Amino acid sequence: MSMAENIARVQEQMRAACRRAGRQPESVQLMAVSKMQPPERIVEAQAAGLRLFGENRVQEFAEKQPVLAAGILFGEASFHLIGPLQSNKVARAAQLFDAIDTIDSLRLAERLNHAAAAANKSLPVLLEIKLSEETSKHGLPPESAELTALLERASDWTHLQIRGLMTVPPYSENLEEVRPYFRRLRVLRDALAQRYPHVALDQLSMGMSHDFSVAIEEGSTCARIGTAIFGARPPL
Ligand SMILES: *Cc1c(COP(=O)(O)O)cnc(C)c1O
Repeated sequence: MSMAENIARVQEQMRAACRRAGRQPESVQLMAVSKMQPPERIVEAQAAGLRLFGENRVQEFAEKQPVLAAGILFGEASFHLIGPLQSNKVARAAQLFDAIDTIDSLRLAERLNHAAAAANKSLPVLLEIKLSEETSKHGLPPESAELTALLERASDWTHLQIRGLMTVPPYSENLEEVRPYFRRLRVLRDALAQRYPHVALDQLSMGMSHDFSVAIEEGSTCARIGTAIFGARPPL
């Protein structure tokens, strides 16, 4: 199947999930996860109509930049960091990315705020939440004082705009086992939005190639799709 066919199929499945949930199709964005894909494939995806991309690693994205720049991609496409951000990469990430979807500590928010100020940018960010102990390595526990502090200090982040929450649930073939995680993220978001009405928490980034339909049924506003668009990733 061609990339265009893959995209059309994913978009149809997204619309079907929206219909089942009584949601507007425009309420969910399709993010193409282009990690491990060569930059030419990203240019191809943009030509096929995609505008939102997710990359996992700062260094990898930096290396793709020259080819992307030649493919007249910038300005028409936005790139989010959806992988863990190490402190020594914060300055570079603030320069390169349009948004950071993986804020998982107070310290990272402080550093990124500083770096965004230095880059003269106001960066949209998502707070990554860890909903299960065993499987996900990154993210703030939903009951943590650190999550509370991040939201209470929202006005301190002069160069960050908190936009919502992101999560990666444990993998399961059985989608009904994944559904409760998506639901918990939405319930958490609703509770936090009530507690912190001055913070915009409208975005819920959840769902990947195998589970985005359930994620959309549970309220996802951004489906992060790699394999179902680009095919299997090249081996490391
Ligand atoms: C790789 C990745 C995805 C996409 O995974 P697929 O199963 O290929 O769709 C989505 N989100 C994150 C955080 C990822 O690392």
